[in-house]
Amino acid sequence: DVDSNWATDWVRRSADAVAAHRADLTALDRAIGDGDHGENLHRGYQAALAALDGLPDDSTPADALMLVATTLISNVGGAAGPLYGTAFLKASGAAQGLDELGPADVVAILTAARDGIVLRGKAQHGEKTMVDAWTPAVDAAAAAAESGSDVRDVLEAAASAAEQGAADTEPLVARKGRASYLGERSAGHRDPGAESSALVLRAAAEAAA
Ligand code: ADP
Ligand code: MG
Ligand code: MG
Repeated sequence: DVDSNWATDWVRRSADAVAAHRADLTALDRAIGDGDHGENLHRGYQAALAALDGLPDDSTPADALMLVATTLISNVGGAAGPLYGTAFLKASGAAQGLDELGPADVVAILTAARDGIVLRGKAQHGEKTMVDAWTPAVDAAAAAAESGSDVRDVLEAAASAAEQGAADTEPLVARKGRASYLGERSAGHRDPGAESSALVLRAAAEAAA
């Protein structure tokens, strides 16, 4: 099982991954959007990193997830800010009252995050958005938990499925968000938000490894 150290380590590793890949994310967004996704998310995660210092030692996973939510909402901006913010807000809700998270809890957290993104952005799977990374991740995590995997393997399954899901957005035509303005011309490039979601979910798996 994992605890609040996992949650805070998830934030640190996400911030590192986004910092390392921010130029790639921005290049993807330049191809089918307005070229700011990497910078937007980097700004948000650097703020989250700074905010971690103010988190009390006895804080719960839910506290850390709530801190990420509020920090991303107020610092990322654009479409991705409210979407990621809602994801972590709902994830925090799912972790409420728990000091230790088992496989089923992690599945509940990922599911709540994905449902938050869908609630906020109304995108279905296959519309070339971050949902295309999150939904395969949730499905893979649930299947892994169902077959008796531990938290580490559940998160590993989620991360791998998210990476595949992000890669699978390449041929798709965008139906939501700024990229949808391009119509058919949005095909042939990966969705930046799906790609960043895969980075964040990989960071969650690394934090548990
Ligand atoms: P903006 O488009 O405002 O510049 P970003 O570039 O930061 O915002 O984020 C763009 C990403 O947001 C897209 O790649 C996509 O994954 C995601 N996105 C946009 N609209 C939606 C939506 N309705 N539902 C889910 N994800 C969305
Ligand atoms: Mg953008
Ligand atoms: Mg923008």
